[in-house]
Amino acid sequence: MRFASVRSPSGGFAVRLDGSVAVRLPFSDVGAMLAAGAEVAGGREVGVDEEIPAAGLDLAPVVPDPPRIFCVGLNYRAHILEMKRELPQYPTLFAKFAAALVGSGDEITLPRDSASVDWEAELAVVVGRAGRHLTEAEAVEAIAGYAVVNDVTARDFQNRTPQWLQGKTFEGTCPLGPVLVTPDEVDHARDLEITCEVDGEVVQRARTSDLLFSPAALVSYVSRLLTLRPGDVVCTGTPGGVGAGMDPPRFLQDGCVVRTAIEGIGELVNVCVTETP
Ligand code: MN
Repeated sequence: MRFASVRSPSGGFAVRLDGSVAVRLPFSDVGAMLAAGAEVAGGREVGVDEEIPAAGLDLAPVVPDPPRIFCVGLNYRAHILEMKRELPQYPTLFAKFAAALVGSGDEITLPRDSASVDWEAELAVVVGRAGRHLTEAEAVEAIAGYAVVNDVTARDFQNRTPQWLQGKTFEGTCPLGPVLVTPDEVDHARDLEITCEVDGEVVQRARTSDLLFSPAALVSYVSRLLTLRPGDVVCTGTPGGVGAGMDPPRFLQDGCVVRTAIEGIGELVNVCVTETP
């Protein structure tokens, strides 16, 4: 099943997408739907409202206000090895705030204080139920589904200090969506192609089978830190091909079109617009 969070003049609502039809659900967004219970997270039927055309919906971030957004650093084997690093024993974790999120079709805001904004196509894991100290087997059951995210990063700010947060959470920089796809539809994202295109040129292309720490391993790991909540998001790390690694380095400019896609889930299309005073 596929779910989305939709904006409308009369307020937001969640939908279930059935082909070309969107079935309006009695929740303000997908995060509220997940918070309503594990049954929904498992993708079972909930009370339905009206049916509307799926085309042309104004999509919010698929979870607009996640309780937490966890992000993972180096996590694609080929990318780690090409960087001449050893495969890490533990995931590198950092966080992002919900104010950074935008929807598919929204603008990516290029921060006026940064001259090196870069792309990072990633698989996002969305938690469906609360849990603490989960085994990997339990973590699999706690995953509501998968989405696409671009962990757009201000490299200059990221590299100012050893802690990356300031480069990772600029307002309006991080597209998340377009939909939440339940695990059964994508075999828990075991082997999906992930791509990022900038102005039509493919800059990143990898497969999720190359992830060092799997979605379940990451959800299990994070659950040892704190009690997971429905709607928590884990961004699983980006493969090779970021602009900072190019020679010469290449960064996002005003007007750039960023297309971030994962096979079987969908694509985010966002235009970069420089922040105005
Ligand atoms: Mn990242």
